[in-house]
Amino acid sequence: MNTSDIFNFLKPKNELENQGESIPNQPFIPNELWVKCPVCKKAVLSSDLTENYKVCPNCSYHFRIGARQRIEMTVDEGSFEEFDAEMTSTNIIDFPDYTRKLKNAKLNSGENESVITGKAVIGGCTAVLAVMNSQFMMGSMGTVTGEKITRAFEYATEQQLPVIVFTVSGGARMQEGILSLMQMAKTSAAVKRHSDAGLLYITVLTDPTTGGVTASFAMEGDIILSEPKALIGFAGPRVIEQTIRQKLPKDFQSAEFLLEKGFVDKVVPRSEMKETLTKLLVLHGSQPQVEPEEGDAE
Ligand SMILES: [Zn+2]
Repeated sequence: MNTSDIFNFLKPKNELENQGESIPNQPFIPNELWVKCPVCKKAVLSSDLTENYKVCPNCSYHFRIGARQRIEMTVDEGSFEEFDAEMTSTNIIDFPDYTRKLKNAKLNSGENESVITGKAVIGGCTAVLAVMNSQFMMGSMGTVTGEKITRAFEYATEQQLPVIVFTVSGGARMQEGILSLMQMAKTSAAVKRHSDAGLLYITVLTDPTTGGVTASFAMEGDIILSEPKALIGFAGPRVIEQTIRQKLPKDFQSAEFLLEKGFVDKVVPRSEMKETLTKLLVLHGSQPQVEPEEGDAE
């Protein structure tokens, strides 16, 4: 037995014991109130971050946020009506370990699937919304993801409503094999039927949007917006470099690079997203409803 093994038996100090060693006269600040920005490395008060749409006040880094939080930031208060909330994936092709992974994803995210769909009012305009969730298996697209998005488009086509989709995805869900890839065709067909009915479809690409989602409904919007610095691509840069045997330009696959090349129409900071979406909806024929209470008050 060597010395490091012996030290493993020593009882570690608990948090209260360690506090005695802190420097006197220094205010005690619990760690959870501060968040370190991964880009500028500065500590940000988490309450400041919440007030600032989860955007770093120093360097404007857009922290990744969950789908519920995004819905809350985007829609008029209390207007969101969710579709198919109970729909959830099963291990359809008996893929090893998928059942456990699904269970963990549900526990970690508190959601049943990698997308939340529904109807909401944004700046007084009614729209159908699909918001992907990076906290659920990195927003990977399985059969249920595809089905929920398809149903949202079908509802919008029937009700003559515009659709807004916020994307974030690692791509097709490999644990569902070919069935996950088929969702690319299924969702695209639903987008086409919605488009043929002359209705508006806006996509908002958020960090990261990759793989099968980029190759289908993410890039099929009539208007494609993106959050600043979002990574958007199909295959990763290393795979591309090895395939084409060329060095890729700097910032390749960033929202700003795609804007320059014409694949993205506008890069919109999170704080301006709701206003931008409202303007676009009104410009394309949505009639904003005026809330009676507000009208009475004025
Ligand atoms: Zn920062």
